[in-house]
Amino acid sequence: MPRPVILTVDDDPGVSRAVARDLRREYGEHHRIVRADSGEAALEALRDLALRGEQVAVMLADQRMPRMTGVEFLEQAMDIFPRARRVLLTAYADTEAAITAINVVDLDHYLLKPWDPPEEKLYPVVDALLEAWLRAPDRPTTDTRIVGHRWSARSYELRDLLARNQVPFRFHLADDPEGARLLAAAGLGSDRLPVVVTGEGRTLVEPADAEVAEVVGLSTHATADLYDLAVVGGGPGGLGAAVYGGSEGLRTVLVESVATGGQAGTSSRIENYLGFPDGVSGSQLTDRARRQAVKFGVEVLTTRTVTGLTVRGGVRVLTFDDGSEIAAHAVVLALGVSYRTLDDVPGLTEFAGEGVFYGAATTEAPSCSDEVVYVVGGANSAGQAAMNFSRYARRVVMLVRGESLTASMSHYLIEQIAAVETIEVRTRTEVVGADGEGHLQKLTLRDRSSGAEEVVDAQWLFVFIGAQPRTDWLAGIVARDDRGFVLTGPDLPAGSNPDREPLHLETSLPGVFAVGDVRGGSVKRVASAVGEGAMAVSLVHRWLENR
Ligand SMILES: Cc1cc2nc3c(=O)[nH]c(=O)nc-3n(C[C@H](O)[C@H](O)[C@H](O)COP(=O)(O)OP(=O)(O)OC[C@H]3O[C@@H](n4cnc5c(N)ncnc54)[C@H](O)[C@@H]3O)c2cc1C
Repeated sequence: MPRPVILTVDDDPGVSRAVARDLRREYGEHHRIVRADSGEAALEALRDLALRGEQVAVMLADQRMPRMTGVEFLEQAMDIFPRARRVLLTAYADTEAAITAINVVDLDHYLLKPWDPPEEKLYPVVDALLEAWLRAPDRPTTDTRIVGHRWSARSYELRDLLARNQVPFRFHLADDPEGARLLAAAGLGSDRLPVVVTGEGRTLVEPADAEVAEVVGLSTHATADLYDLAVVGGGPGGLGAAVYGGSEGLRTVLVESVATGGQAGTSSRIENYLGFPDGVSGSQLTDRARRQAVKFGVEVLTTRTVTGLTVRGGVRVLTFDDGSEIAAHAVVLALGVSYRTLDDVPGLTEFAGEGVFYGAATTEAPSCSDEVVYVVGGANSAGQAAMNFSRYARRVVMLVRGESLTASMSHYLIEQIAAVETIEVRTRTEVVGADGEGHLQKLTLRDRSSGAEEVVDAQWLFVFIGAQPRTDWLAGIVARDDRGFVLTGPDLPAGSNPDREPLHLETSLPGVFAVGDVRGGSVKRVASAVGEGAMAVSLVHRWLENR
């Protein structure tokens, strides 16, 4: 396969040569550096690369070019290589244009000229973008392949599992030539799907998550029986606890039932996390945190769900869904919340994973190319999803029950949505019915003011209607509020622990702490979950010292 391209375009020959030289020095071994001296020439080069079937990973464009500005170039370049990461080179005076471009061309980064020394200013940016591009779920790859039906809930689950765990894969429909070829090569028919074919040619038919996780190299089994700290849940809260636990010398295990990152990992762009003025994709942020935890010696187990917690002989014992156990001196519960489902809409539940998705389902976005996507919800998560889908879909229709978005969505996001012509916001509208054969094909929408109903053709519905904790398994183990959120510290009923006052994030079970969205009264933000995770570790130390 030819090396992926890094393209740079600048009308100043001296600058253009210097950027290309710096890029070639650092990335030349694994990438082809292509240089152009105008937007038009760069577009021609991109079309040529597309025709030859080559891949473009990153495009760096100067903003101030005659005839076509960098933003104008990137806007057109997106049509040719939508997945390539985009950087604008600007002078200080152009930062306003760069900030606007973040919305218009979904800019990944802007670099102020001069970028010397490149080791500090250029390479870290390009490194991060190459990493993100490599991990994108829709990147062509020769690694793991999944063969399945387009509208199969199970093949969607497997794609989601791999994408969220940053495992590169390719999806083939069973009746596509490549899908049929893979099935024939494995001596299989299309009656038992999905089939997973690994890079080494191993074939798994209708596999369970843990089997797939195992063959693609994700850890699923603990290497020890006893840890200092066990963290349950691998979202920002759990990752925060794991990084601080590991870095402070605690023997730490993190257990995650699907993929590290949690809700944040499904966010296409987090704009309000400290230290990322240009925003950061949730999967990039949380994947870095996962690697940071691993660097500090934390064992990360994925596709393992904790279903029981008990105290035995002075240690806390966690039981997995397969009945196996691990023990730890202290436990941090970072279970987060999951989306509520639209169970009361007749006909909708049967299409879950078959056109109806709860949450961002980022894996599906490229499949929506040139189609109409419906998004239910009026909060930030729905808004972010609408922005993300608008990069692929012909039209995105947001269905909002309320009068407007202002009460439920951040101002910056409302402005971004208003600036995208292909997003339509339908307020006072709700979904009241669904229909289809084998997958979603029609939705019935009701105008809440007039009561008028309308049936629309719809193949894609993404639902973001609030969330609830998944803590049923903790009933009778730790105190929870009436909605299932775990109570901690000062919120616990008086006398929960007869021997001492509970520590701030401690639950009613001594030595067991709760952080992030699952905690009663929590703020429901990435930063607060991370902060509570870090804080819990200092409380764990106190608990371990005074027990
Ligand atoms: C689409 C979207 C966009 C968002 N955008 C922003 C934003 O821009 N800024 C912001 O600050 N916040 C944002 N949020 C909110 C933010 O992501 C959450 O507040 C944050 O992720 C909470 O972290 P957490 O660790 O508490 O829980 P979660 O992120 O929910 O993670 C919990 C994890 O625990 C795992 N788990 C649950 N039960 C078990 C079990 N029994 N065994 C093993 N594992 C288990 C789950 O699989 C999950 O991975 C967004 C949320 C969404 C969904």
